[in-house]
Amino acid sequence: MRKGNMKLMKNINVSLIIREFNDAGPCSRADLTEKTGLSPTTITTLIDEMIKNKLIIVIGEGESKGGRRPILLDLNPDHGYILSANISAGSISMALLDLKYNIHDSYEEELRYPVEHNIVEIIVNIINKLIKNNNIIEEKIIGLALGWSGIINQENGSVKYSAIMGLRDFLVLEPIQEKYSFPVYLENDTNLAALAENEFGYKHLENYIYVMIGSQVGAGIIIDNNIYRGKFGQAGEFGHIIVEKEGAKCVCGRKGCLTAVLSQYISVENERQFRKQFKNIDFDSPNYENFCDYLALALSNYIHLIDTEAVIFGGELVKLAPKSFYKQMKDRIKKYSMWDFYQNVQVLPATLAEDAVIMGGASFCFHNSRYFKREGGAIK
Ligand SMILES: [Zn+2]
Repeated sequence: MRKGNMKLMKNINVSLIIREFNDAGPCSRADLTEKTGLSPTTITTLIDEMIKNKLIIVIGEGESKGGRRPILLDLNPDHGYILSANISAGSISMALLDLKYNIHDSYEEELRYPVEHNIVEIIVNIINKLIKNNNIIEEKIIGLALGWSGIINQENGSVKYSAIMGLRDFLVLEPIQEKYSFPVYLENDTNLAALAENEFGYKHLENYIYVMIGSQVGAGIIIDNNIYRGKFGQAGEFGHIIVEKEGAKCVCGRKGCLTAVLSQYISVENERQFRKQFKNIDFDSPNYENFCDYLALALSNYIHLIDTEAVIFGGELVKLAPKSFYKQMKDRIKKYSMWDFYQNVQVLPATLAEDAVIMGGASFCFHNSRYFKREGGAIK
């Protein structure tokens, strides 16, 4: 085997081991052999090297299955750090996490509307503050994820449009990236919240739509464990699916969008109003019936198109909706579905609340880092 190929092979195997620790937590050498399918000799050699490089640490002894108690190993959480931010209309919050996704420090700053163009400066200041206050060497940071409320143009790293923040074609990535050696990622906030469920919540789900309801209606689409952005980064504009011809006027300028139609019954355009109206609603009232009905109608269309395995609800709605909401939604989706299209689709509440965007961003950074990348530099 050529030297280059051997190095690549080794990196793939190291990634396999890291993936196992990330998915399952502490493992013994025997567990790793079983789960990765690598030979015991390969595991021993790689683990020795990873321990030497402080990428893996011994955390204690596991239960004996007859014979000696196995030595448990885990990722060294402090081998690298992640920065992850949630940038929305009202505020920007950023966290510093380790490789085990423990939040070491976080910082929040309020933003005024419309967002001033010094937002990049504010972000840079927060990054510098977190790095300095925690005595982190920049080289140890494996990435920064910016979860942004709006449509993202991945081609040039800009916010193409954000109604809620009053931004259009706003360049973000370049002015931040040029200041740091670690990679910076810009992603739609709902996409990251959706991804967080794949890593921390419903790990077994590979295909689902994550519908955020509260301050707006948005969706993150996960297909085969990955974010689906569409060709122009506009996939998941679920709130602007038209559900009524000549219906209520929408903020986007058209008529009958889901956001506008739902808002006739419970306002989904303003978080405070949504909270107030949803809290006080009578669950037998026509307003609630209509709200659920139009939502189910739009979801049923999505299910027919994508053949998804679950609908996960996030945002303010999850904090307020009664348990019966999910059952009712399933029944209504059934009403609008052909044959048994609805049958295997689960309707679920999001498991992560406040930190969903930040945690999704951290997961995105880690999975796109040198730890998981199969090519590129070796992991030291
Ligand atoms: Zn619209």
